[in-house]
Amino acid sequence: MGLDKCEWIWHEGKFVPWEDAQIHVLSHGLHYGTSFFEGIRAYETKQNGTCVFRLNDHNIRFKNSAKIYGLELPESVDTINEICREVLRRNNLKSAYIRPIAWVGYENGLKVGPDSSVLNMSIAAFPWGAYLGEGGLENGVDVCISTWNRVAPNTIPAAAKAGGNYLSGFLISQEARKRGCAEGIALGTDGRISEAGGANVFIIKGDTIYTPPIAASILGGITRDTIITLAGKLGYKVREEQLTREFLYLADEVFFTGTAAEVTPIRSVDGIKVGIGKRGPITEKIQNAFFGLFDGSTKDEWNWLDPIGAHTGKKAATA
Ligand code: PMP
Repeated sequence: MGLDKCEWIWHEGKFVPWEDAQIHVLSHGLHYGTSFFEGIRAYETKQNGTCVFRLNDHNIRFKNSAKIYGLELPESVDTINEICREVLRRNNLKSAYIRPIAWVGYENGLKVGPDSSVLNMSIAAFPWGAYLGEGGLENGVDVCISTWNRVAPNTIPAAAKAGGNYLSGFLISQEARKRGCAEGIALGTDGRISEAGGANVFIIKGDTIYTPPIAASILGGITRDTIITLAGKLGYKVREEQLTREFLYLADEVFFTGTAAEVTPIRSVDGIKVGIGKRGPITEKIQNAFFGLFDGSTKDEWNWLDPIGAHTGKKAATA
């Protein structure tokens, strides 16, 4: 499945037509995974038109991903935020997935550790529906534990959203698909639950909601943080704890969180039914609180919604 093309991409300093956002085949980032990126969603809200969800938080993580590698983005977070908004305005996108990416470019040569590592940057946006398939948000999805472990601490930093990390995600997700599952959950090298190929995991038992801690080789998801906050507001106890595989089998409810996955219920793990075998009541409440941010039924007390203002695009998007 290809991408739903738009008209403009911000590419290395200027807006260019979608087809012209190209890089050289000898770019360092392509060979060695030396790229950093974000995935951000914009929603068409009832209250304020198109708003980007937690735009600044995503772009702070973007900057920090590069920082972990001793590198700097070519623009400030404020400027990157504004380019993200402008990409939506120019393309007339009402709701979309935004993908800022910075990479170690061709100019740096092909030594693995180049003498200098200047980052180039592009920001694209395009329509993207439910990540784990239509119906997944209502019915739940089947998942399995991966035979691949997540990267061990002190090998590749899990906190950086870097291109190279997604070799692990690729193996986990691709294996799961081959086994007829929507996604895989990886354990850490200590055998405890880490995260999915591209999402964080939450487990409900009684009225307590558990999720692995940041130190469990996970990416600190912005949606994860959102759900911890919203679940607390709804009166649930949320515990960030090391968890074992069998805890998933005995859970009342399990769900994924992620910008792409949003809040996706899990109905089975390794062929074992989770709880009632479909979306559970607490997951549904949490989904309603989350999606309620975009129709105004959940008050945005945290200023998570960043309105983009009027669209400026001359031509309708392909959505
Ligand atoms: N873990 C991984 C490996 C991911 O790729 C993602 C998606 N960015 C997440 C967790 C969820 O993070 P977020 O909620 O910030 O999208």
